Amino acid sequence: MDWKKYTKDELIKWDLEHLWHPFTQMKEWSAQPPLFIARGEGNHLVDLEGKRYIDGVASLWANIHGHGRVEITRAIEQQLKELDHSTLLGLTHPSASILAKRLTELAPPGLRWVFYSESGSTAVEIALKMAFQYWQNKGHGQKTKFICLKEGYHGDTLGAVSVGGIGLFHDIYGPLLFESIKLPCPYLRCKEAGVPLQEGSELCASDLEKILHKHHHETAAFILEPRIQGAGGMLPAPPGYLKAARELCTEFEVLLIADEVATGFGRTGAMFACEAEGVSPDILCLGKGITGGYLPLAATLCTHEIFQAFWADYQEFKTFFHGHTYTGNPLACAAAIASLDLFEKDQTLETLKPKIELLASGLEALRALPWVGEVRQVGMMAGVEIFQDPEAQVPYPLEKRMGHRVCMTVRKHGVILRNLGDTIVILPPLSIEPQELEQIITSVQKAIHEVCGSK
Ligand SMILES: *Cc1c(COP(=O)(O)O)cnc(C)c1O
Repeated sequence: MDWKKYTKDELIKWDLEHLWHPFTQMKEWSAQPPLFIARGEGNHLVDLEGKRYIDGVASLWANIHGHGRVEITRAIEQQLKELDHSTLLGLTHPSASILAKRLTELAPPGLRWVFYSESGSTAVEIALKMAFQYWQNKGHGQKTKFICLKEGYHGDTLGAVSVGGIGLFHDIYGPLLFESIKLPCPYLRCKEAGVPLQEGSELCASDLEKILHKHHHETAAFILEPRIQGAGGMLPAPPGYLKAARELCTEFEVLLIADEVATGFGRTGAMFACEAEGVSPDILCLGKGITGGYLPLAATLCTHEIFQAFWADYQEFKTFFHGHTYTGNPLACAAAIASLDLFEKDQTLETLKPKIELLASGLEALRALPWVGEVRQVGMMAGVEIFQDPEAQVPYPLEKRMGHRVCMTVRKHGVILRNLGDTIVILPPLSIEPQELEQIITSVQKAIHEVCGSK
């Protein structure tokens, strides 16, 4: 794209006059000149003037191996020369087939079938419809409900919002949503009960058990983000909770949907978060990092048991009537295959452990700041929460936008970060170098001092 034939002023004007940004209060957006990213290089983003920033949120939790990796761009180019797009409705193509096989080899055991879409939200919609229809097809018409967690996030489409638990994003759409059964957020449940997170599994599992006991006959599935709730504010679950949930779902004949859109592809230190507790869900949702962060793609994996419930003669109407125009887009599949190859070539998972430890020690340094009340981390996902009074955990007034202000200040120090409320999220590409990780920590340190210390 030859955008250089336009002036910077034109680009800014068109953005401010026509572009409605996601998850953005546009009044706030229009108050300052927008930051245009012109290029990506490794773990950096580069603006129109050539100023470099570390991509500290991995381009919204998607980037794995850094920007501009030739292994991925070449795979996309080669695919583009051969086939741009062709549908998976009634046809197939090599990249979709290869990737399906690769994903099922990597995924927790038992997940044999891959259903593609384009975003995490759609991967979740598909999981919900699949779980629902599974029981319908098997003649259990009463199993129509979903159990989910408060502070959970599964995307922005209405089905995903129906099983979401973030009041700020979800409450207003209440009248449009289907009802779901919401359990307390495991992290906050432990905190409120005064139980250390490490020992909280039993408490949270007993909440789930009670609900399953009461509702299993009318419940299709339990959906959760394994090990850590991301968009809810980087809230880790007690160790063992996932495994307990798996056992309870099996016992009560309720499907388990693991939404690994954020945690998948190495983010927590293992390829998938479920591995840490030896869990195989019935349905697995993947997105974000699946293409290394290069193109939109998502996948919903399921067991052969689920697949079989849809296997029938056409006139029995057991078909899964779902699919999108760009389902299994060849370019995105090619990028995903190249990203999986890079996991092997770069030894991404093998080299991650020291980086996770470095992040942990950086977080400890941040914890020592007078405004930081909590730091939370699972693998390469972390949150730093600031408070007006961290001791008593009194939050800043909402209108102060402290988390947002810290992230805007971090930019001055050459790092791009995003906040979730007053939690500063640190979630860089897995390819982040140790000294870049240190730069992120130092810049957060400085920014918190500048923003919180000034008043
Ligand atoms: C981001 C996210 C989604 C939604 O993915 P989109 O690609 O933004 O639609 C779903 N689930 C989880 C856990 C996520 O973090």
